[in-house]
Amino acid sequence: MSAEPSSSEGSSRSWRTKLIHTERTVPAGFKSLVPAVYRGSTTVFERVADLSDRTRQPYTYGLYGTPTAHELGARVAEIENALHSFVLPSGQAAIALVYFTFCKSGSHVLAPKTAYGPNLELASDLLKGLGIEVEIYDPLIGRDIAGLIRDNTSLLWCESPGSITMEIQDVPAITAAAHARNVPVALDNTYAAGVLFDAFAHGVDISVQALTKYICGHSDALLGTVSVNTEALKRKVAAVYRLFGIGVSPEDCALALRGLQTLGVRLDALQAATLKVAGWLREQPGIARVLHPAFTDCAGHEIWKRDFTGSASLFSIVFDESWSPKQVIAFVDALEYFKIGYSWGGVVSLSMVYPGAYRDEYDMSRLVRLNIGLEDPNDLIADLWQALRHARGG
Ligand SMILES: *Cc1c(COP(=O)(O)O)cnc(C)c1O
Repeated sequence: MSAEPSSSEGSSRSWRTKLIHTERTVPAGFKSLVPAVYRGSTTVFERVADLSDRTRQPYTYGLYGTPTAHELGARVAEIENALHSFVLPSGQAAIALVYFTFCKSGSHVLAPKTAYGPNLELASDLLKGLGIEVEIYDPLIGRDIAGLIRDNTSLLWCESPGSITMEIQDVPAITAAAHARNVPVALDNTYAAGVLFDAFAHGVDISVQALTKYICGHSDALLGTVSVNTEALKRKVAAVYRLFGIGVSPEDCALALRGLQTLGVRLDALQAATLKVAGWLREQPGIARVLHPAFTDCAGHEIWKRDFTGSASLFSIVFDESWSPKQVIAFVDALEYFKIGYSWGGVVSLSMVYPGAYRDEYDMSRLVRLNIGLEDPNDLIADLWQALRHARGG
């Protein structure tokens, strides 16, 4: 055996090693009201035997979740009355995870015509090429969905209210028909923030949320969740989740955890302000429809009353034929507090047009979607009033 090698600087450790390994400690027991932000790709094991012993070491690698990400998942699961919530980098990633968990080549999927646009784009672009057929159905179909279910239907999507045009779906009737054929039902529950509609109590199997919207709540982070209510579904989703390489930023999870604390007061304020602004718009000449679930002329309003515990910040207005599509654009451009942007649910009011979206019932070139923020609703009404006047050339 060779002689004992000496440390680089006699008996003391090199400063270079001290940069990496310290012998100093800080006091333990810091009790903050705020969850810790744990960063980490590598997680370490005490002994080789722990590599295969999950009871001693539940964390094996940062990709499969930091304590911060697990805390967010646990909190969302608790609020949604779910068994488990998987946290993903965006709502769209959550939608993709559901497709890849439940579909394989030869599968048939049913999705409402009013599903979130990029959900249907994923279906028509990527999934079609993989031999997965996504069939579009009328969101107001209710129990008649039974007639569309095939032997190879492996997934049924619901989204209520529908994207842009706000149709409320009869989710209990649709899930009953799907379950009679053993088809799992996934719901995009983003509008309800996981709280205004109890997905699992209404028969849903998989609840998806873009936390990006109301949970984060300040337009500063992107996150999504996939929530399930049975061990079997948890195992099924977990097997695909592991392989997807979809870790989340612990900083973003901390923002979502902070957002959760004020979700209740934000939703209350947004509901009240939105009803006030939408109610005012309904009275204005030139506005043919205001598509808001709490208004009786919104498709599915009675179901909203039966199944939801409130409404949120999103609605659309449809101008009448006396408005040209150019005037509608001029109205949006003239708004000052309402910024033009897609990702709603924050504190700033937003507007958006969808001339390329297709709905048989509406002239989309005369439709504007609005998201109400936390500004004073009277100032928002004043802004809408000046933009309406400006666009009409008066
Ligand atoms: C925004 C949104 C998504 C996608 O969420 P991202 O985090 O932006 O990817 C999915 N569904 C609905 C209903 C949304 O509004």
